Amino acid sequence: MNAQTALTLQFAPAVPIPDYLVGEIRSKLAYVDELILSAEVSPEQITLHLSHPGAEGGLSAERRSEIEEKVQRVVLSMAKGAIKPKIQILEDHLERPVPYQADPMAELIARDEISQEAQGVFSLGPLLSQLIDYFEGQFIALADSFGAQPYRFPILIPARYLERVNYFRAFPHSLSFVTHLREDLQAIDQFSQQAACDEHGLQAPPDSFAQIQHLLSPAVCYHLYFALADKPLPGGQVIATAVGTCFRYESSNLVSLERLWNFTMREVIFVGSKDFVLENREIARLRMAQVFERLGLAYRVESANDPFFIGEFRKQVAFQSAFQLKFEIRARLPFAGSTLAVGSYNYHQDFFGRNLNITLPDGSPTHTGCVAFGLERIAYAFLAQFGFDPSDWPTEVRDYLQEHKP
Ligand code: 5GP
Ligand code: ZN
Repeated sequence: MNAQTALTLQFAPAVPIPDYLVGEIRSKLAYVDELILSAEVSPEQITLHLSHPGAEGGLSAERRSEIEEKVQRVVLSMAKGAIKPKIQILEDHLERPVPYQADPMAELIARDEISQEAQGVFSLGPLLSQLIDYFEGQFIALADSFGAQPYRFPILIPARYLERVNYFRAFPHSLSFVTHLREDLQAIDQFSQQAACDEHGLQAPPDSFAQIQHLLSPAVCYHLYFALADKPLPGGQVIATAVGTCFRYESSNLVSLERLWNFTMREVIFVGSKDFVLENREIARLRMAQVFERLGLAYRVESANDPFFIGEFRKQVAFQSAFQLKFEIRARLPFAGSTLAVGSYNYHQDFFGRNLNITLPDGSPTHTGCVAFGLERIAYAFLAQFGFDPSDWPTEVRDYLQEHKP
């Protein structure tokens, strides 16, 4: 940030912001205006840190009130009449003693373990890669315990698929688009002559690019549902597993390894009747509880909601909460006094079955659910709790890394 052009805007929210919405609203403010660099939110006050080109004369009164008006729209839409979701805690091991208290980012940087290519885009070094491999092993063992069928899914996802599952309405802010040059010799020639990067990004003739037909995939399990779409579910039930790179644009919320634009997720996916999905989701949770106990991870499993965009937020969150659709595994980050979702247990009811026309033997739409683990996050949370000295680690992890030394 250029200190000369930094500017602060402070005002009271149109309605008081309940404590439980402070984080959700702060993270949405990143998408409200391109000038917003960061925001601080408390129940009675919003502070925006803005950038603006050219310090001369500051920001016009008109522009300031435009930004304030957009922020108030977010506040009203998300906080007015909001009902506090009841947090249900299924497992509480948050207070398990752990040996490390410091912020692992400083050490990761000092060891050249991470190299940042852009905001939210990191390369990971040998230690993180091996830790991820270790945790992958645990998740694959979970998948194997269900006899899950392995799949490999593409990173691209067709726009029309995402449209079919209402993704544009629910999560527009986090979409990542893909295009290519138009199949036109002149356009390709022009691009190759003129394309250049400056501090704003890639500069190229505006008509270089083809219409967007694909996006970068935001989730793993969707691809299975698309593969099963518009037909009866084979055998009436399916259990599958896959690992994949997922993309969720997070604007200025992209900090450290806690939030990445691209991250890796391992999922175990259940497709079948309601009871089949719910029972297996529960079995998966109980099996993972044993793994986390063995490791001594400090964490909690609690009800949660997906980060729906502003317009859909209130309704969808109330719905997810009422039907207990999502539970998150939240690992403690001792240095921050906070928790981080390293995985989730999800039940989608018959949402995908209905929208994608996947039918059970009785002709009704299938139900789906998935358990999903964020691989970068679990490795990061592990280091935040256990640090970098292998003698402080659970024996099992120490042995794994020792055996798999490059
Ligand atoms: P969900 O589908 O519940 O949103 O995501 C499943 C898991 O993927 C999360 O519990 C988390 O571990 C991981 N995940 C989701 N979003 C991000 C992100 O922005 N960055 C990282 N590193 N992991 C994420
Ligand atoms: Zn999923």
